[in-house]
Amino acid sequence: MSNRVRIIGAGLAGSEAAWQCARRGIEVELYEMRPVRSTPAHQTGEFAELVCSNSLKSDSENTAPWLLKEEMRRAGSLLMEIARECAVPAGHALAVDRVAFASRVTEAIGREPLIKVRREEVTHVWDDGVTITASGPLTSDALSGEIARLSASAAKAAHLDGTDTAALKRCATQKREEEVGAGREMEGAGGASLQEVGCDHTLQGVGGDLERRGSESKLRRASEGATEEIDNRWHGQEARHKDEGARATQENLYFYDSISPIVEADSIDKDKVYMAARYDKGSADYINCPMTKEEYDRFLDALLEAQSVEERDWEKLNYFEACLPIEEIARRGRDTLRFGPMKPVGLRDPRTGRPPYAVVQLRQENLRADSYNLVGFQNHLKFGEQARVLRMIPGLENARFLRYGQIHRNTYINGPKLLTETLQMKAHPQVLFAGQICGVEGYVESIATGLLAGVNAAVIAQGGRPEPPPRASAFGSLVNYVARAEGKSFQPANITFDLLPALPQRVRDRKERHRRQCELALREFDAWWERMACPVG
Ligand SMILES: Cc1cc2nc3c(=O)[nH]c(=O)nc-3n(C[C@H](O)[C@H](O)[C@H](O)COP(=O)(O)OP(=O)(O)OC[C@H]3O[C@@H](n4cnc5c(N)ncnc54)[C@H](O)[C@@H]3O)c2cc1C
Repeated sequence: MSNRVRIIGAGLAGSEAAWQCARRGIEVELYEMRPVRSTPAHQTGEFAELVCSNSLKSDSENTAPWLLKEEMRRAGSLLMEIARECAVPAGHALAVDRVAFASRVTEAIGREPLIKVRREEVTHVWDDGVTITASGPLTSDALSGEIARLSASAAKAAHLDGTDTAALKRCATQKREEEVGAGREMEGAGGASLQEVGCDHTLQGVGGDLERRGSESKLRRASEGATEEIDNRWHGQEARHKDEGARATQENLYFYDSISPIVEADSIDKDKVYMAARYDKGSADYINCPMTKEEYDRFLDALLEAQSVEERDWEKLNYFEACLPIEEIARRGRDTLRFGPMKPVGLRDPRTGRPPYAVVQLRQENLRADSYNLVGFQNHLKFGEQARVLRMIPGLENARFLRYGQIHRNTYINGPKLLTETLQMKAHPQVLFAGQICGVEGYVESIATGLLAGVNAAVIAQGGRPEPPPRASAFGSLVNYVARAEGKSFQPANITFDLLPALPQRVRDRKERHRRQCELALREFDAWWERMACPVG
């Protein structure tokens, strides 16, 4: 057994994984293709670059994102430690100065003697030693093809293995039972504000309460439809290839995400905006651009008429429901934006004493506070059109844009078909997946799975068998989702209470229920972490 681990991708998951391996005395070869070859979203050659929002979500005690971060802290996460050092004011959320964050992670990894960094594009997944694939949602085309090939052989093996199929059915039944037990509440992030959840990648971001109330099944149907369409499309496109190729594409799912624009702070008209936190919870760190009904109507009409970037053939697919572009949200109804990223509830304007008709929130980007991002304003409009339409927002009439919204590809594998709860491939146990590509959604979730994959890879490299984290913990709930969710309509997920198991007894009060779930999670997490007897050095 070679005491060495190869890691593909030095993003959030890969950097954390490399660090965890090195802490356990394992030599690491860390492959990163940037800056030699970049992705459509990254702008630098630094490791752990945050490509969109700078928020690592809620830091309010006893919320699901807090629980995950707390477990990571207890597990000695390098990236969480650096995030705290680079924090910028963001109310109850943990947001970071992205430049400082990436540069400190790069420095820390570069200083670690056991980690050898190789700046090159990997086009082949090695299975002759322990390998972690952490190449992210923008995995290069060549490597995507390779992962498709590997997935196809893995899916074939799973199909031939009757016990595995039976296990999958058991898992689906267990998940259904848990859902019934938990009342399938969408409350993990449901109770939190846009600010806290980081907005950009949650159901709240797409239409919030309006969409969520009574229409969760509609959303699910929409995403199932999207998945089916993607499957069919890829299946059709690839029909000319051999059988294996066609099956491979079925195992790889692609969907589409978008990025919010960033403006320079001194180009915001401070007389027209106000600082506030939703429901006055936490410090008033967000800039709020208020709109009257007339201003909202004018803005909406302009948005609906604005020209999008020309679709390329591969872009004619449905967007990821949890990260819709604003123009797409607007098309779903005149009020949908007001119940989503432009929700005014709890954002009292001190000059009028009440919330405006609609609001656009801006979050601080960096420690210097010289740039702000438009929260939840990802879009796919032409840059000129973005400038024209977004300058209709009160306070942004003369905004200077540092970055415009964009759309991009998001690649992930079908975790439930291919992975175990230790993030190993069922058919190739030496190959692990971590980060967005394994089927989680979000920065923190990506780092968390990187941490787990790093720890597990180190155990495997030393000849041991990794033990999955306890089901009650946030770590355990994430990997349970990745490995056991319904495979047919699988989509990456954020950490929410929805993923955590229900308590043995029913607790009516939501806050108290969450407090107890977090308490149980941390107790079980601590016991597991101690059992792992991790040789941290
Ligand atoms: C445009 C965009 C916006 C997003 N916005 C948010 C957000 O606002 N909030 C949020 O919580 N999450 C967001 N996400 C989702 C997700 O949290 C991030 O993508 C996160 O960075 C995923 O971490 P990762 O480690 O899986 O991938 P990454 O951080 O992308 O790291 C993968 C690394 O692998 C490298 N790589 C790729 N292919 C190869 C190859 N063949 N060989 C060598 N290296 C390779 C890449 O260069 C990259 O450095 C966004 C995703 C995208 C794509």
